[in-house]
Amino acid sequence: MKTVYTGSYVATMDDAGTEYADGWLLEEDGLVLRVGDGEPPEADARNELNGALVTPGFVNTHHHLYQSLTRARAQEADLFTWLRELYPVWARLDAEAEYAAAKYGLAELMTSGCTTVFDHHYVFPRGVDGLIEAQMQAAQELGVRLIPSRGSMDLGESDGGLPPDSLVEEPDAILADTERLAAKYPGLVVAPCSPFSVTGGLMRESAELARRLGLQLHTHLAETVEEEEYCRELYGCRPVEYLGELGWLEGDVWCAHCVHLNDADVAAFAAGGVGVAHCPTSNLRLGAGIARVRELLDAQVRVGLGVDGSASNERGDLSLEVKQALLVARARGGPAALTAREALRLGTRGGAEVLGRTDIGSLEPGKSADFAIWGDDWIFSGAEDPVAALVFGGPSRPTGLVVAGRHVLENVSADDIVRAHRTAAARFAH
Ligand SMILES: [Zn+2]
Repeated sequence: MKTVYTGSYVATMDDAGTEYADGWLLEEDGLVLRVGDGEPPEADARNELNGALVTPGFVNTHHHLYQSLTRARAQEADLFTWLRELYPVWARLDAEAEYAAAKYGLAELMTSGCTTVFDHHYVFPRGVDGLIEAQMQAAQELGVRLIPSRGSMDLGESDGGLPPDSLVEEPDAILADTERLAAKYPGLVVAPCSPFSVTGGLMRESAELARRLGLQLHTHLAETVEEEEYCRELYGCRPVEYLGELGWLEGDVWCAHCVHLNDADVAAFAAGGVGVAHCPTSNLRLGAGIARVRELLDAQVRVGLGVDGSASNERGDLSLEVKQALLVARARGGPAALTAREALRLGTRGGAEVLGRTDIGSLEPGKSADFAIWGDDWIFSGAEDPVAALVFGGPSRPTGLVVAGRHVLENVSADDIVRAHRTAAARFAH
């Protein structure tokens, strides 16, 4: 069945940045068949959008869904202090709580225009299973695209790491479970947590496993100055140099944050093809600094956006993150440092590129029909440029959200989700 969406301003985010002021989009079997301007084509169903803006759905490239259970803790802490306070609390995680957290976090992102979510899950308390399965169930019920990961920590406190020994796992068990989950969920990402919670041995073995199975790799990197000091002390080099030693400066890798990169680091990312998940609100919340996004983009590094977990960004809102990316880039580099369209691109096409996906991120023939409909007049009134109005005026709520041709915003029943989440979160209280 063909459905045509008419009467909209379509920002396609294709290579040329094509926008159609009197636009339409033709969808069939979950895919974009054609996009154009003027007289719309014949279709089985017609959806009049009354002048709404249509953009590709946002792509979230870094999150920890479980963290919504522990928001607003360690309010003045830097990263390491914040982690030390929260690790023992997170050790209480089980599948039931993970399901409630995922439902909440995914729904929250959907109401900000997000259609694809990558989740970096690295907390696996001993004896607890079914965590990734719980996330996937929540995503399936909501109709949003979730790309899961098998994260890991094997460098406990007694070996000089940051997490408590009770929360680290044996490398062999981690790798076996990663392989089990990869068979179940094609496209699973192999995602050891960070250089201060994972041994070099596991980082190397994770990369070997991912490459054997054709999977993407992800980790946290260069988030704070303290991490840089830690890396020098423990490994005798900077975080990016360390990544290179581990065989991680490759095109199948993307890293979260990357706030503290020098020019050589940026060049190394560009040469290796490493992508970056830019998480501006989380970086500001923890006082970590501001990533050098302008320089990364100028060096042709793949950059997408991430809300990061709800314990370091209490608002999981991609529409807000698009605006935040624009604002922090300008705080660093002046008013021309990032345009509204570049910011929107980070949240859509850029995110897809970071995840290694060519089927989402732009509205072009043959790509998945994943898009957000922005029909709220409050955003656009008085603004001639709807794309700029959306970015400068964010955060905004979409009036429609479509994933592979299916309308999914209707699956978000806020009251039920919040009630279940509140009950689950009570078990994590002080
Ligand atoms: Zn993170």
